[in-house]
Amino acid sequence: MNVHDSEKIAGIFAESGHVESTGKGDADMIVLNTCSIREKAEHKFYSDLGRLKKAKANNPNLKIAVAGCIAQQEGENLFKRFPYIDFVFGPNNIDSLQDLIAGGSLPATLNRQHSIFIDVNTEYPSMILPVKRAGGVRAWVSIMYGCDNFCAYCVVPYTRGRERSRPSTDIYKEAESLAAEGFKEINLLGQNVNSYGKKLDEDLDFPDLLYKLHEIEGIERIRFVTSHPKDFSEKLIIAMRDLPKVCKHMHLPVQAGSDKVLALMNRKYTYNKYKEKIDLLMNNLPEIAITTDIIVGFPGETDEDFRLTMKALSEIEYDGIFAFKYSKRPGTKALELSDHVDEDKKSARLSEVQRLQENITYNKNKLLEGRTVEILVEGASNADKGKLTGRTTTNKIVNYYGGSSDIGNLINVKILDAKMHSLYGEKT
Ligand code: SAH
Ligand code: SF4
Repeated sequence: MNVHDSEKIAGIFAESGHVESTGKGDADMIVLNTCSIREKAEHKFYSDLGRLKKAKANNPNLKIAVAGCIAQQEGENLFKRFPYIDFVFGPNNIDSLQDLIAGGSLPATLNRQHSIFIDVNTEYPSMILPVKRAGGVRAWVSIMYGCDNFCAYCVVPYTRGRERSRPSTDIYKEAESLAAEGFKEINLLGQNVNSYGKKLDEDLDFPDLLYKLHEIEGIERIRFVTSHPKDFSEKLIIAMRDLPKVCKHMHLPVQAGSDKVLALMNRKYTYNKYKEKIDLLMNNLPEIAITTDIIVGFPGETDEDFRLTMKALSEIEYDGIFAFKYSKRPGTKALELSDHVDEDKKSARLSEVQRLQENITYNKNKLLEGRTVEILVEGASNADKGKLTGRTTTNKIVNYYGGSSDIGNLINVKILDAKMHSLYGEKT
């Protein structure tokens, strides 16, 4: 989501005639688009900011802006602690940048000191913001903003505000123009795509949106993140089954295997309810890849609770997971819970989860050896020099030797060797 917000920030600069700096100290303005989902992301920002203090001392005309969730969370505090910051704008106020840089070249117009834009619940103007994408084959498309779920650990509802869906005609138009620009895959973005449409005047839900976008010629693949298990419906499974362009990959964060922990997290499902939905998905789409998010060391998580998370991983056999140590976030309900788990225990649990999953992922990938799969070719592989890279509908990375005319095409590749993070194949 933040990567896409950065594309919107870059879009505003590009539209007003500004160009990217070389990164060698020639910038008139630097925007730090921050994330505060976990403490680690925040630390990264503060260390980057420390480095910019020196840059500002060398070039007093340099303007420094802080955007994103830390901007929203800290607001005026940022100016107090770091007076060399010029602007602060939250994730719902990206449009304020248009105002800040309007009407001339930098830095002449940027003489307003300490401007701040952090109105969390504005009707989200970036619905109509320009976007500067890196180009290529895959494009992010926002379909909704904010979140109303208030999971006890999560800062998102506070930093990104209430859930709002974008009108389907706007999404359709954006996807159509992406197809015209040559993009082949759209990746629909929202904190909880399954509740898409709830507050719209239109009578349509997320599966309806998929049917609508499926009509667009030139778009070969449609993906989406993220789905909340409580809103995940049979209607969506049917849409995924019946719409060939909708990729056969589902990211469905379970977070924990213990019902006690799930209730403390305010996730609004039990493990069994979650598992029922997974079974329904697998029965209808046997080839589907399923991935998840896991939090270890949530307050109150005992060894026994943690075992239930391990059991869930063994039982479901995900294709991949993102696992995190619980991180205390300002303003969230989980801070008030008792029995916080100590850091060493969290680290040990995280390693255990990762070890188990590495085996599962590796064994699942190995099953693909000898099989021919269709991939959408994205470009040169960064990890595997000299090869091209693409993804299967199940979101597995495949590297192979091919010509640049393959880029943007769907091609068949026979898998010869499977590793944990990628597969190696041969064009058939
Ligand atoms: N809206 C999405 C994703 C939100 S953030 C969803 O609900 O699935 C992505 C992941 O970060 C979450 O699924 C969760 O596993 C993790 N996360 C969020 N807050 C966290 C915290 N305070 N500590 C550790 N992990 C966290
Ligand atoms: Fe955070 Fe929960 Fe909303 Fe996801 S659904 S953004 S984890 S509050």
